[in-house]
Amino acid sequence: MERLQKVIAQAGITSRRKAEELIIEGKVTVNGKKVTELGTKVDSSKDDVVVEGIPIDKEEPVYYMLYKPSGVISSVSDEHGRKVVTQYIPTDKRIFPVGRLDSDTSGLLLLTNDGDFANILMHPKYKVSKTYIAKVEGIVFREQLKQLERGVKLEDGKTAPAKVKVLKADSKKNTSVIEMTIHEGRNRQVRRMFEAIGHPVIKLKREHYGFLNLKGLNAGECRELRPHEVKQLR
Ligand code: URA
Repeated sequence: MERLQKVIAQAGITSRRKAEELIIEGKVTVNGKKVTELGTKVDSSKDDVVVEGIPIDKEEPVYYMLYKPSGVISSVSDEHGRKVVTQYIPTDKRIFPVGRLDSDTSGLLLLTNDGDFANILMHPKYKVSKTYIAKVEGIVFREQLKQLERGVKLEDGKTAPAKVKVLKADSKKNTSVIEMTIHEGRNRQVRRMFEAIGHPVIKLKREHYGFLNLKGLNAGECRELRPHEVKQLR
């Protein structure tokens, strides 16, 4: 049994806050009866919950971690027939990615049908840490690393401080491999940060999402999150 507002948000209709408003405004019924009490507990797989006249789906929430291969789009469908991340997940439930990785980025991506879970993780306030391994052009020196650590100016504002570590510097090939951890999730943020310090990204992989990592998975493989992992992320 779960709180009514959580069940509504899980169905992906709206945020938990907005769901609370809808309940208070008398726009929600459970098994045909109007409910205005916020603490009401319901069974999402049995009770009939109707929001503004529309029944919500009774789909069990599922949570997956995918090692997204490069060249795959973080979307549920593509009008040009390109590969999308949901194709790699063995479920017929209506899952979607939590945030996105660029098509040319590989690595850890979460997918779920739980809208509430996705909303929480993607909220800027939540600040889940994400660690990327970037192969970049050139040898990155201390001053540039410091810039990344302090935050760099991008056109949509200065980035929050990042944690960086040089994993490899290849002077023959004139490339470096850098591990960087950030808490924000702006569009193409890692690529833009390296571009801003004069070291364009050649290859990018997301290694960690919060406490999760890709251990045991090859590119294109997925696994379900364990219940304690889902709980810890929320
Ligand atoms: N930052 C990027 O630039 N690309 C990604 O896919 C993720 C983070």
